[in-house]
Amino acid sequence: MKPTNPYEPPKANLVQDNSLGVKQCANGVVFVPTGADLPPRCVYCNQPAVQPMKERLFFYTPNWIPITFLAGAGLIFAFEKFLFFYVYLVICCIFATIFQKSRQVQVGLCDMHQRKKSNIFRISVLLAILSWMMIFVSSYMNFFPFASLFMLSMLVCSFIASRSRQVSIKSIKIDKEGCYLKGFDKRFLNGLSS
Ligand SMILES: [Zn+2]
Repeated sequence: MKPTNPYEPPKANLVQDNSLGVKQCANGVVFVPTGADLPPRCVYCNQPAVQPMKERLFFYTPNWIPITFLAGAGLIFAFEKFLFFYVYLVICCIFATIFQKSRQVQVGLCDMHQRKKSNIFRISVLLAILSWMMIFVSSYMNFFPFASLFMLSMLVCSFIASRSRQVSIKSIKIDKEGCYLKGFDKRFLNGLSS
């Protein structure tokens, strides 16, 4: 038998609260300081979050990047230097990667909302596979209008499946002090200090 250590920390489902300094700014924006996470509550309904909470990666691209890129693209088209466009696209991607900031934050979901999300994911994957099979069946039977219809439903279902894994929260700014997130439910916001 393994000797028990009386100083060992308990292994039970301890709710990790690493939300010191998390506060609500104006317009439903929530500030999460560097090193902190959101409180262990569901971001939709404010019920206790399922532990452990999920790590989610947030990206932020400064506003001047898309504006500069669009202006550059405009110039290329104005001067009809279309060949340069592909080189330009690559340069844009490199620049965006350099200036884009990312931050990992643990985001809480309650049991119900987590299950709801994974159900939407499963159903949309299933429907995407079904539509994919129907594309073959209808092409085989020469029902081409149906084939394109199923192609469309496959794309829609795949899109929903990819979205269903995410939360509706977006980062609007990331700096050294922390990140600013938006998209929380009122019930969650009401439980935060401002
Ligand atoms: Zn919930």
